[in-house]
Amino acid sequence: MDDLISRQALYGEFNKLSKPFDGSDIWHLINAAPSIDAVPVRRGWWEWRERWENHPETRSCDLVDCGWDCSECGIELGEYLSKKTGQNIILDDDYATPKLACCPNCGCDMREVEHETD
Ligand SMILES: [Zn+2]
Repeated sequence: MDDLISRQALYGEFNKLSKPFDGSDIWHLINAAPSIDAVPVRRGWWEWRERWENHPETRSCDLVDCGWDCSECGIELGEYLSKKTGQNIILDDDYATPKLACCPNCGCDMREVEHETD
């Protein structure tokens, strides 16, 4: 079974080990560490999608559909919100990334994550 343990608690226990220690000490320390009741965060992002229709006879094309899709479950946000609220919600600005912190359909965390650099 997969579970989570506290890194901070593990460091505290690690510092209590008498030195020198061996691999079995570390193994016992990890096995004795209490698990944390937590759920891993599922992350996603809003993806701008456009669908174009080509008309070779006139050498033109039309934008027939666009919107912001959840990277994880694939819902189109404007369409989803329109169905849920009964109002016509149009999100057709590719510069206006949705600010929702999570996807209302699958619950993925949509906030940008700052990455640590070494
Ligand atoms: Zn989703």
